[in-house]
Amino acid sequence: MEIKRENPIEINKADFKKIGYKLIDSISDYLDDISKKPLTTSKSPKELQQILGNQSLPENGLPAEQLLSTTSKLLFDYSLFNGHPKFFGFITSSAAPIGALADLLAASINANVGGQILSPIATEIEKQTIRWLAEFIGVSPNYGGILVSGGNMANFTAFLAARTAKAPKSIKEDGLSSTSNKLITYCSKSTHTWIDKAAILFGHGTKSIRWIPTDSSNKMDTIILEQTIKDDIKKGHQPFMVVGTAGDVSTGIVDNLETIAVICKSNDLWFHIDGAYGAPAAVIPELKSLFNGIKEADSIALDPHKWLYSPLEAGCTLVKNPKHLIDTYSSHPEYYNFSLTEEGGSLNYFEYGLQNSRGFRALKVWLALQQMGSKGYVKLMKEDIELSKYFYNLAKKNTELEPITQNLSIATLRYIPENFQQNGKKNETYLNTLNEALVTALQNSGEMFLSNAIVVNKYCLRTCIVNFRTTKKDIEESIKIIVKEGRKTHIKLQNEEHQGKV
Ligand SMILES: *Cc1c(COP(=O)(O)O)cnc(C)c1O
Repeated sequence: MEIKRENPIEINKADFKKIGYKLIDSISDYLDDISKKPLTTSKSPKELQQILGNQSLPENGLPAEQLLSTTSKLLFDYSLFNGHPKFFGFITSSAAPIGALADLLAASINANVGGQILSPIATEIEKQTIRWLAEFIGVSPNYGGILVSGGNMANFTAFLAARTAKAPKSIKEDGLSSTSNKLITYCSKSTHTWIDKAAILFGHGTKSIRWIPTDSSNKMDTIILEQTIKDDIKKGHQPFMVVGTAGDVSTGIVDNLETIAVICKSNDLWFHIDGAYGAPAAVIPELKSLFNGIKEADSIALDPHKWLYSPLEAGCTLVKNPKHLIDTYSSHPEYYNFSLTEEGGSLNYFEYGLQNSRGFRALKVWLALQQMGSKGYVKLMKEDIELSKYFYNLAKKNTELEPITQNLSIATLRYIPENFQQNGKKNETYLNTLNEALVTALQNSGEMFLSNAIVVNKYCLRTCIVNFRTTKKDIEESIKIIVKEGRKTHIKLQNEEHQGKV
């Protein structure tokens, strides 16, 4: 007879099946009902704490079946559901269900994709995923790269590779003090906040960032970019990197990548593209020209957990010459005793990025790519864009709504009360207050979810559709919800004003 340890953490085969099937049953019901549920809970953090209880960690364990059943209920009752067809907030997509199954499978194998020897097939799957992502967005499949937790990490990973490539060779040993010239980064003023974090994290300081103004089409003004680079060189600084954004977070604008690429080339600068949101749209034939220049990028950040509908977390750094990742992140410590990377040979992902032990996040991306095929993704993304245009056009037709911008799958608009005198500074201030309050009201309503954007000093409602569950009907209903909540919020603010509260 086999002797096994008395071991409550193990779940035997029969129980695993029973508990697992039950969990899958309840997840299936949840997914099937998602459109009928309130989009988010109305409970405050305090109420949620009470529901959770404040007891200390129990000394004795509880049965897995009971835990999973109470926890499922807890999550199904009190979460925000970004898979709801009326979720249009931030850039968080509805998650492809195959991703949930993939995560279960990946966790069951528990591959450590830091080292090839620890993850033989998983490493190859990640490599293939990276190659497919490069092919998908239309750059050379020879780009190498790594999957990371999201856009921020993808950009950080590229930032340090850029610095290693362009700074004096001694920087890895001597740090920033080895260079007397200040290393300068250029980006448009609509660049995501990751750039601040990167400048702090890697010791450059935020004063090393040149926030280049945007032109009339809201793209980085490349004339000012060129001039600023010249001025910095004159001052004895060392420009090293330009960040172009392909789909800015607020309004979806894609910078003029082609011109930025030329400027980078003539000044020997690293050209990085932050395409966390927008890069996948480069596959859409009608949008290809918008992304001209993407093939010139030294590095690209993109987020499968945005427009490729992967469950969180999945970001990706692509690097034209992956040697720069090895140069940056590999130090070959003896005790690892992994063989060196060779063409087509083994590859240890711990030498490609910041993480050492790494999970198998490639699996969910790899499976979804195959489930959809590139054609399937093109169709879904085009539909998202069409729906966003539909949102914008319905706002245009509605006398109480003012459409502001529409790019990729992001539309911004404002609520304007009927017969509102839309002139004068005071009224603009009021509209900003009103729309800010309206965003909060809508987010709490549980009926739909959007976020905000400031567009030329206007506080806007912002909808980003990266949601394969959204239909035209959801958009039509959402417009009605916005107007209904807009009226309510306006009346409430007017009443407060009369009572002297504002
Ligand atoms: C979303 C986004 C980020 C940040 O990505 P996370 O996945 O949230 O870390 C950075 N840049 C752009 C352009 C984005 O859209």
